[in-house]
Amino acid sequence: MNPAISARALEQLQTVFGYPAFRGQQGEIVEHVSNGGDALVLMPTGGGKSLCYQIPALLRDGVGVVVSPLIALMQDQVDALAEVGVRAAFLNSTQTFEESMRIERLVRTGEIDLVYVAPERLMTQRCLDLFDAAKIALFAIDEAHCVSQWGHDFRPEYIRLSILHERFPDVPRIALTATADPQTRAEIAMRLQLEDARQFVSSFDRPNIRYQIVEKDNGRKQLLDFITAEHGGDCGIVYCLSRKKVEETAQFLNENGIRAMPYHAGMEHPKRAANQAKFLREENIVMVATIAFGMGIDKPDVRFVCHLDLPKSIEGYYQETGRAGRDGMPASAWMAYGLQDVVLQRRMIDESEADETFKRVLSMKLDAMLGLCETLSCRRVRLLDYFGEPSGPCGNCDSCLIPPVSFDGTVPVQKLLSTIYRVDQRFAAGHVIDVLRGAETDRIKQWHHDSLSVYGIGSERPEAEWRAILRQAIALGLVTVDHDSYSSLKLTDAARPVLKGGQKVQLRQYVKPAKSKRAPSASKGYVESELSKSEQEIFDRLRSWRMGTAREHNVPAYVIFVDATLREIAKAKPRSLDDLRGVSGVGEKKLASYGEEIVALIGEML
Ligand code: ADP
Ligand code: ZN
Repeated sequence: MNPAISARALEQLQTVFGYPAFRGQQGEIVEHVSNGGDALVLMPTGGGKSLCYQIPALLRDGVGVVVSPLIALMQDQVDALAEVGVRAAFLNSTQTFEESMRIERLVRTGEIDLVYVAPERLMTQRCLDLFDAAKIALFAIDEAHCVSQWGHDFRPEYIRLSILHERFPDVPRIALTATADPQTRAEIAMRLQLEDARQFVSSFDRPNIRYQIVEKDNGRKQLLDFITAEHGGDCGIVYCLSRKKVEETAQFLNENGIRAMPYHAGMEHPKRAANQAKFLREENIVMVATIAFGMGIDKPDVRFVCHLDLPKSIEGYYQETGRAGRDGMPASAWMAYGLQDVVLQRRMIDESEADETFKRVLSMKLDAMLGLCETLSCRRVRLLDYFGEPSGPCGNCDSCLIPPVSFDGTVPVQKLLSTIYRVDQRFAAGHVIDVLRGAETDRIKQWHHDSLSVYGIGSERPEAEWRAILRQAIALGLVTVDHDSYSSLKLTDAARPVLKGGQKVQLRQYVKPAKSKRAPSASKGYVESELSKSEQEIFDRLRSWRMGTAREHNVPAYVIFVDATLREIAKAKPRSLDDLRGVSGVGEKKLASYGEEIVALIGEML
């Protein structure tokens, strides 16, 4: 420990950023990097990674270089720093040559604290020469999981970042990511030559996020009910697999009174960028998107993230849902999931061009995701366990709030498996279920399936229940879906012991999708103190003041102040600049810029 550094770091935290104390491991990380150490930081989204390199960059001599793949967000990041009085700039392909020259000059003369660069830009000779000639305080490699070839955000340019170590051996490097699985962590350390770096692994729990996974019936309608019941007027993100579904869902929400915009890679760039900017700047708006949207989106007040299609892996799911509630206030992660999702994802793996090893990895990741969907116990325990973190029932997921009922599903599964077998493993789900339920269809007559011994043996259950049982049988690996054009169901080797009667199968009871009700809000993870009526009025007033100010400065509203800070101001009702200084999130620069206005505004209202 170096006490001089600790004291200076805390002073920066308080005067520049306006926060009273470091969170979690932030203090240790800042200390380590400020002293010249290398670090690998794993922290969940919203954990507060940025300060881990911003404060060391301020404390050390020279310019902090932040490598980030998120060109579209650099302007907002730089603007947010300017608001707190940190001199920052970026170098990327969106700016003119003259502008680049100007920034390069600032880097060379050290008249700047932080510079953001895209990895491809950093690798240019010109940029490397510039950094040779300048004094560099540190390299921060943000979104470091982009170096992982198995991951979902792989960026080839990231691989080349290992040269930083060779070329600038004395400059500390800090790599940061919110992707936590041990495999990715090892890959980052190896590829970035950070094996000797100190690793800081935070808890990945996001206690303020409530996880819910419901059976899909009519996905869009369920989504609408969920948003209406629990998140009317809130900001949120809805993920869909295909571009077409993104467009359709956005339109559907709009037709039903929810302001929504589409975002996917097939849209024209200007339109896509405009929608992203609008999402960042406005309240009360829903982004319907493919997974192309979201990395680096640090809008703190996203209240819900929904999935209308099954994600490919828990890493992806966790990162996407992690975009909810970065401000620490209650938020939801909601997903609708059904038989079709399982079939589709399995098929996508089988039909992909990837080699066998890669397919096996994809398949294992999908199995873990299915396990999460089908689990009978706490979702959060399951999620954290995937990232190697033990925990206990959370009290803030659907399994904990309304415990699912399990039942011995051996007999129905046997009925299902025999039916698949009796129709020669040549028919798809719809027909198999029709035979089970003893339906009278043309196809049944045509194939004389009404004369089979299994015909009608499942008439006691409605179709939806059979779909749920089949889905679980597929998730359990007893049944596969063939990729011929018929999507016929086939038995696997694992089906044999179940059919023969030796092995029991435990299933999750099908619950008819009900109209979403606001779930009970008590949870041990999060306690929000309510605002009184007069505080709420002040808060609303502060929000509209913030909206106007953000428009004037052309920055997202949260760059001025986040909701949590405005809430605290509404409660504290500061009558002087000194009172205001004590509020978390109000640093010296913001105090100077906005203090008088806020104190006056409060004065008018009291
Ligand atoms: P990450 O990059 O890990 O997702 P950020 O760096 O964007 O997270 O931080 C998330 C939010 O938490 C931001 O609004 C940030 O200002 C706030 N924050 C970070 N550190 C602290 C702290 N020590 N005290 C209070 N708020 C903090
Ligand atoms: Zn739980």
